[in-house]
Amino acid sequence: MTKESLILDGKKVANDLKHCLKNKINQISQKVGKRPKLAVILVGDNNASKVYIAHKEKAAKELGIESDTHYLPANTKQEDLNNLIKILNEDENINGILLQLPLPATLSPDIAILQINPLKDIDGLHPFNLGLIMTGKPNLIPCTPFGIMRLLQAYHFNPKGLKATVIGRSRLVGKPIAELLINASATVTIMHSKSRLADLIESVKQADLVIAAIGQPAFVKADWIKENAILIDVGINRLENGKLIGDIDFEACVNEGKAKAITPVPGGVGPLTVAHLMLNTVKAFEIQCFGYSSIEL
Ligand code: NDP
Repeated sequence: MTKESLILDGKKVANDLKHCLKNKINQISQKVGKRPKLAVILVGDNNASKVYIAHKEKAAKELGIESDTHYLPANTKQEDLNNLIKILNEDENINGILLQLPLPATLSPDIAILQINPLKDIDGLHPFNLGLIMTGKPNLIPCTPFGIMRLLQAYHFNPKGLKATVIGRSRLVGKPIAELLINASATVTIMHSKSRLADLIESVKQADLVIAAIGQPAFVKADWIKENAILIDVGINRLENGKLIGDIDFEACVNEGKAKAITPVPGGVGPLTVAHLMLNTVKAFEIQCFGYSSIEL
């Protein structure tokens, strides 16, 4: 008889975090007489971006975080985008700046992100904040990797000494989660599109912890999974029938029951990403009000 894999409830962990954040915001706001405020910048007309922004605005509203969205046309010049960011940097009422990616191809995300004051960089993508992760003393951490670390912590999965395979090496997910896992004393291997498939499979077969962040539906197969592995699926892939699935073959993995635990898509990592954007906003607010933050991982 096969045993059952534990389905990790990212939504519940995210809701618990949001509940704590709401209380924290009320405490700080009573002291300083104002609420945290978020500025969102959307350039162009990307429909997926509009949906993501709507989720973020809704979460902010639930927690009592004010938010203003700046809609810029797709033909915005880099200089104009940079100038808006500079204005938001200088605005004392704005605590966090969220530049929704991707930008239209005519604009450089690297140049735009560099303009953001690192203390208001709630996506944690400014090189200063990414660099702090490498020192082992991070401040504003990219939201998805931050969410994954909280999920592991919430289920008492300590990465210390575990063999972890991270598939994907983006600045948004793969690289920062690999670095956070190294900081947490895991032994980390990173795989990407130029890795040999045989090496990738071999690495997954040996991994106690697999993080898949590639955007390839059901890429990671059930027969690659080691007994008792923990599987974290970051991927979001929409099939032709409208169904959302991850980068790991969830159904086959659950049926096989070899994994100790697995995240579903949706309802796994996604809600944690939005919750950690709120956490970073509260952290930025606290630092701007008091010069320090009491929020830890
Ligand atoms: P990117 O496109 O920026 O990066 C994808 C990475 O996957 C790259 O490093 C790429 O390698 C690697 N890759 C692609 N195909 C393969 C393959 N066949 N084998 C091995 N590696 C491969 O994506 P993101 O990191 O931004 O996002 C990854 C996925 O996670 C997407 O589905 C995205 O929608 C989802 N996502 C979900 C979030 C959530 O909240 N749940 C948040 C952010 C993203 P190379 O570098 O060589 O090109």
